[in-house]
Amino acid sequence: MKKIIIIGAGIAGLSAGIYARKNGYDVTIYEMHYLPGGMCTAWKRGGFTFEGCMHFLGFGGASPAYFLYHIWQELGVLPDKKIIHHELANILKDTMGRTLHFYTDINRLEKELLRLSPSDAQEIKTLCKTAKRIICFIRTTGKNPFRFIAKMAGILRGIPLLKKYADINIGEYAARFKDPLLRHALTSFLIYPDISCVQIFFFLAMQHIKGIGYPEGSSLLLARTVECIFLGLNGKINYKKKVKRIIVNNGRATGIELEDGKVESADIIISAADGHSTLYNMLEDKFTTPTLHERYASQPLFNPFVQVSLGVNRDMTNTPHSVRVEMSSPFEIAGQTQRVLWYQHSAFDPTLAPRGKTSITILYLTDFARWEKIDYRSEKYKALKKDILETTIAQLEKTLPGISSQIEVSDVATPFTTIRYTNNWQAAFGFMLTKKIIENMVMKPQYTLPGLENFYMSGQWVRGPGVIMAAVSGKEVVQKICEADRRKFKVK
Ligand SMILES: Cc1cc2nc3c(=O)[nH]c(=O)nc-3n(C[C@H](O)[C@H](O)[C@H](O)COP(=O)(O)OP(=O)(O)OC[C@H]3O[C@@H](n4cnc5c(N)ncnc54)[C@H](O)[C@@H]3O)c2cc1C
Repeated sequence: MKKIIIIGAGIAGLSAGIYARKNGYDVTIYEMHYLPGGMCTAWKRGGFTFEGCMHFLGFGGASPAYFLYHIWQELGVLPDKKIIHHELANILKDTMGRTLHFYTDINRLEKELLRLSPSDAQEIKTLCKTAKRIICFIRTTGKNPFRFIAKMAGILRGIPLLKKYADINIGEYAARFKDPLLRHALTSFLIYPDISCVQIFFFLAMQHIKGIGYPEGSSLLLARTVECIFLGLNGKINYKKKVKRIIVNNGRATGIELEDGKVESADIIISAADGHSTLYNMLEDKFTTPTLHERYASQPLFNPFVQVSLGVNRDMTNTPHSVRVEMSSPFEIAGQTQRVLWYQHSAFDPTLAPRGKTSITILYLTDFARWEKIDYRSEKYKALKKDILETTIAQLEKTLPGISSQIEVSDVATPFTTIRYTNNWQAAFGFMLTKKIIENMVMKPQYTLPGLENFYMSGQWVRGPGVIMAAVSGKEVVQKICEADRRKFKVK
């Protein structure tokens, strides 16, 4: 039986592990952390669980109507896992007291947007119509030939639309709308105004068919479920084992060297870890192609977050779980001006806090360059975290009066936290989804490196961000390995 070593027990590594076991390989994963999941995570403080991943975009592939649902079925995660679907993605409030309900159902959303801003009627209708037309790209057809033909016809009609919007980023697209609250809703919907606006149509479509949701019990529990399935297939995981180097002999990857100096050999190595450290550290920059050099040197990344988590003695059941409030005066977080306070709570999932209490998270996008100048072991860093916590509580108090006296536990996670626990370059979840990255990376993932045999890369730095894409990359990388070994790829 051929032996595969996988670096990293994030979703990409675990998914590759499961498919590799199903295809008869002997698999061992080496993970630097003491937990599975990587970025797909959550953490506990005094009975409260704080979601660290799928609280804003959600769990892709969450419905049988969505074309990637079968990946979770093949992995053995669905249909058993309970997925929570929201009626409302967000609520937005402006300083004039206006509220916008960002519904997940496109028809309800259209009505709400028209109510808010009749003068944007034309653009609102185009937005919702385009999102509905995109549904055919992501809806599964099963084995029904008529549905398949309808889907293909829809895709052919939709391609010119995608071409039309591909070059426009979300910020530019939102500027077409007159109402500032509506503009805010669109620019903040996917957090990053620099990504192609095509993503908005896809996410609206995904929400509409319930293709995204929230995995009950947190992202970490999802990762634990995938880990359990892998172990149940007799896969092996070694935690607290950081890989320092990939050993190469005569153009073939033959093993790994761990930070503790131990060497392990294998027939095939898959790195499902951070792309930058794989190429530049573990492979010592010996196999980085000019295209990859150019990508890592010049492509923008997804900016990381500062996350403030609060466990409160307040029952927030039946209140909107994700609220963005424009504050009447701006405030500063880690040297960056904020005009909006965005809090999310988890009362919709009773497993995440003690009865009658709630876990709240507040996220701020942050510029990684600011953090590079700080030593995370310094007093300055401690003081900065304290200031972030106090400022956040003071702002939240304005929105949820009385909340500051109900806080039982608190926690501040910064980009350093993300790096410490996942090793991701600049604490990012990969390259920003610009048109160039979608065309050259997401649509044409490169799982191998020229000049290096028996070596594969997978995960968000190869296939694009998101838990579902990490799972897809795990499948595709094993398909490539089976192809090279002239084996028929199996999913069962
Ligand atoms: C705040 C936040 C919110 C997000 N929200 C969503 C969302 O709503 N929906 C969604 O789908 N996605 C979301 N994502 C993105 C998603 O979490 C990631 O894209 C996905 O989990 C990446 O999986 P991965 O396996 O490719 O990489 P990772 O999760 O980074 O896994 C890599 C693993 O490799 C390990 N590792 C690294 N280096 C080494 C080494 N040298 N030796 C051994 N082990 C190593 C790491 O510890 C880690 O466990 C979010 C991410 C963040 C940070």
